[in-house]
Formats: sequence, structure tokens, C-alpha cells
Amino acid sequence: MTNLIDLTFHELETLIVSLGEPPYRARQVWQWLWQKGCRDIALMTDVSKALRAKLAEAADIVWPEVVRVRESEDGTVKFLLGLADGEAVECVLIPEKDHYTGCLSTQVGCAMGCGFCATGMLGFKRNMTPGEMLGQVLVARQYLLNKGEPLALRNLVFMGMGEPLLNYENLIKTLESLHHPQGLDFSSRRITVSTAGVKRHLLDLGKTGLCALAVSLHAPTQEQRERIMPGAAKLPLDELIELLRQIPLKPRESLTFEYLLLSGVNDADADARELVRLLSRVKAKVNLIVYNATPGLPFRQPSPERVFAFQEILKAKGLVATVRKSKGADIAAACGQLRAEAACPADDGA
Ligand code: SAH
Ligand code: SF4
Repeated sequence: MTNLIDLTFHELETLIVSLGEPPYRARQVWQWLWQKGCRDIALMTDVSKALRAKLAEAADIVWPEVVRVRESEDGTVKFLLGLADGEAVECVLIPEKDHYTGCLSTQVGCAMGCGFCATGMLGFKRNMTPGEMLGQVLVARQYLLNKGEPLALRNLVFMGMGEPLLNYENLIKTLESLHHPQGLDFSSRRITVSTAGVKRHLLDLGKTGLCALAVSLHAPTQEQRERIMPGAAKLPLDELIELLRQIPLKPRESLTFEYLLLSGVNDADADARELVRLLSRVKAKVNLIVYNATPGLPFRQPSPERVFAFQEILKAKGLVATVRKSKGADIAAACGQLRAEAACPADDGA
């Protein structure tokens, strides 16, 4: 059985043609799926009865199941979602001044093995399908609607569980569906894909213009980087920067680098100066992330003074450097804390 939300618009057209119907009917069905959040083919009232019957035989509409919702004191909402095969992932809604940002997962677990990341500690289970990735948006939007929340879900960041570029084909389909003007209609400026860097897809994604890119750097030298991000061995820093230099940027655009500050590991003045040197080769801005503690991991959060000093060195050299405000830490919804707690019942309600 095909899950309709797994299909791109073009794939939906192909399905509808294969059922003996004209391709333009796809538009109506698409609007039901994405604009109205319809979950039952029978309810697509302006679609002919005949097409509804044929569609219902070939396909269904399955959203991820909301297993649990937790709300942080700061308004951040974390969803634990059950997938059709019993796996689970998490996604997060983050309140901003005039909108919500959705933080989406792309894989169950992750193969990159970063030593500071709760998802990395899970290891890799499987890729998420386009419908599972998009289902996070549908579920989150529905949640806001049910609550009568006036602010809309307007921005998306692929910074949840998993390495998006290791699920490349499904990621591209997901981005295409997100953009469709008769559907969810997210503009590429409002979508950011965060990656630790995957050689065979990085440049391709950059060139599609489907999203903004954020690169998880976290260390200014290859040796330091490999120590905390074993997956980085496959794409050495020099090569990473060279690839990034080839991504076309608009006049005022720059590449975003995420730099996770780990006390005593990569937060020294010398590291900041080395980072400035490394990034002098690209148009860069730096988003500093303060480590969020994860039980069982051997890292510590740097002091606010250290974070400030690190940021000042970057700024003094002309780099735009911001510190990411961490939200949702009280419900383990902050960066690097996602791991689908259903798999860890011992932590329940912790
Ligand atoms: N795999 C992708 C996207 C998901 S991780 C990537 O690594 O970019 C999203 C961001 O959260 C990354 O920058 C990641 O390094 C960061 N992160 C991971 N663990 C963290 C932790 N414990 N505290 C703060 N940020 C963390
Ligand atoms: Fe994977 Fe990103 Fe976590 Fe590294 S930080 S293990 S790439 S999810």
C-alpha cells in the first residue's frame, strides 16, 4: 500500500494516471493532503467518487503516531513519534518572536558517531521516508491548530535526529514537497539543512538552492575534529572547505558554520584563532552552540565567560558570530539531546 504523503507531486500524478485518470486531478488530491491535512481519502469531497474509490484501493494516508508530547517551560514542544514499523523519532517545535520553527529528524539514529550527541550514541537504525519526515510537519502544524495557537509554523531546520545527507534521495523529495506552492509552500529561505558534511552530496545539495546549509564544524583542525566526530575522517577539513567554496552564494549570503563549544576540548583562545584562519577561505558566519549535557557523555559545558571570550575573538577578526539560545533543555529537547526516549523507558519522565 502506498502512503500518499510519501509521494512527490510528480509521483502522485503518475499514480493517478496509472489509475486511468487525467494527471490534473493530482492537484486536488495534493491540496487535501498538504493544505487541509486530510487523513482519509473518503473525505476528499471534491474529488470524484470513482477516483476516491480507486485511490483508496491503491493507497492510504498514514501520519506518524503521536506517542507523547512534552512542553517545556519556555514553550518548546517535543513530540515522540511512532513510525509504522515500531521505530520512534523525536521532533521539536521552538517558539520564536512571531513564528514557530520546527526541528525535524531525518534518520532513526545516526551513523556518524559524534561523541557529544545522544542520537550518535544510538547508532544507525534506518533512514526515514519522505512521508515520515514530512509527517513531522503535519503533526506539528495540527498540534498548533488544535491549540488555537496564533503563531504559524514558518521555519524548518533539519537538525533533529540523523544526518540528512546520508538520506539524500529522500531528503530531496522532502524538500521538493515542502516547496510546492499548492501544498505546504515553504520558501527555501525558511528551510535550513544542518550537516556534518558528506562528501558525495554536499555540493549537489548546495547547488539545488532548495534550502540554506549549516555545516557542523565543531573543531578548527582535522585532528581535533576527528577525535570528537569520527565520521569526519571521510571528509577532511581542507576538502570540506574546498567543496563549500564551490557553492554559489547570493551577494549578501554567507555559509553558516555551527561550532559546538565543549569545555577544555575546543573552546580555547587558540582554537578561536585557528577557526578564524580556517574560515578566512569562505564567506562564513558562525553559530556557537553551548554543549547541552547528555547523561553518560564525558563532556562539560563551558562557562558563560569562556563562551563570551571565544565569541569576542571571532568578532574582533570580523566574523559574524552568534550564540545559539538553547531551548527545551528541561525536557531534553535541545540540540543533541534527541534520542526517542521510547527506546529508553528508564528515562521516562526524567
Ligand atoms: N546530523 C546533522 C544534523 C543533526 S545534529 C549535524 O550534525 O549537523 C544538529 C546540531 O546539534 C549539530 O550541529 C550537532 O552538532 C548539534 N549537537 C549535537 N549534540 C549536541 C549537544 N549535546 N549539545 C549541543 N548541540 C549538539
Ligand atoms: Fe549524527 Fe549530527 Fe549527532 Fe553527529 S551531531 S551523531 S552527525 S545527528
